Amino acid sequence: MTASIIDGKAYAAGLRERVTRAVAALKAERGLTPGLAVVLVGDDPASQVYVRSKTKQTREAGMAGFDHVLPANTSEVALLGLIGRLNADPAVHGILVQLPLPGHIASSRIIAAIDPAKDVDGLSATNAGRLVQAGAGPLDFPVACTPLGCLMLLKDSLGSLSGADAIVVGRSTLVGKPMAQLLVREDCTVTIAHSRTRDLPGLCRRADILVAATGRAEMIKGDWIKPGATVIDVGITRVTRPDGKQRLIGDVDFAAASAVARAITPVPGGVGPMTVACLLHNTVQAARRSIGLPPATI
Ligand code: NDP
Repeated sequence: MTASIIDGKAYAAGLRERVTRAVAALKAERGLTPGLAVVLVGDDPASQVYVRSKTKQTREAGMAGFDHVLPANTSEVALLGLIGRLNADPAVHGILVQLPLPGHIASSRIIAAIDPAKDVDGLSATNAGRLVQAGAGPLDFPVACTPLGCLMLLKDSLGSLSGADAIVVGRSTLVGKPMAQLLVREDCTVTIAHSRTRDLPGLCRRADILVAATGRAEMIKGDWIKPGATVIDVGITRVTRPDGKQRLIGDVDFAAASAVARAITPVPGGVGPMTVACLLHNTVQAARRSIGLPPATI
């Protein structure tokens, strides 16, 4: 079998178009422009690239983008002060604090300070808890962007996920745990694996759906994949090739897995573009909720 490629770049472009239409409708019908504030502390080059890309895509979708770039020595108190001002600002419907923060700032305290209604990254305890408790039906609170994007790709590729055996390799708050919760809501039977899991290859071989989110380059081998499985590779590892150029590698041995799987996301061009598109999606939904509207079908 040669796997079909799940084109996250194309899906994300379509999602951004639908978000743009939803933004235009909100402006025309309610006079409301959704606004996203992105906060970056420090001068990490990779984070700067992510923040620029987020703000550019926010504005392209017709939303207001507010950048707050603070020096690396910003105190936790000063950052909490900014979060308080953004919470109170009616033009801001979503707040994203770019992680990781410098070591002297406790990310947990910053995330906890964001108004859950504006927590478009879905990382606050309130929104993580809502996801655990959510029943069937539309999710009317922000869900972590990367797992939400993975779920969209899976549903687009497979239709119903009901009854599928799924494994999520990785148990982070950012990706693994919310991913597993989303799959349970879709009636999958879910295994959450991590660095202490015994017989990871054996567990992977049982899975109809495999989501890899470890950051360990190509650790998932081709012969770990169940024939006909659908593989979502979240992992991103930057490697320098012998010619000095940088290359991104996923958690899955793409060439070997492609010979066995039914469908697979590439790295890059799979999950990556979905994360920012889902951030825009979450921001327009947060703006709608701020005036009592139900979630739009986007
Ligand atoms: P974390 O480092 O927070 O979590 C990694 C998880 O992988 C942990 O639960 C860890 O287990 C598990 N793990 C590590 N080694 C192994 C192993 N050998 N076998 C099984 N499990 C293992 O990472 P994130 O969840 O934040 O990110 C994961 C990857 O996804 C990274 O490459 C990151 O860059 C990428 N990413 C991509 C995004 C995108 O937009 N495409 C967005 C967010 C992340 P344990 O808990 O036991 O330590």
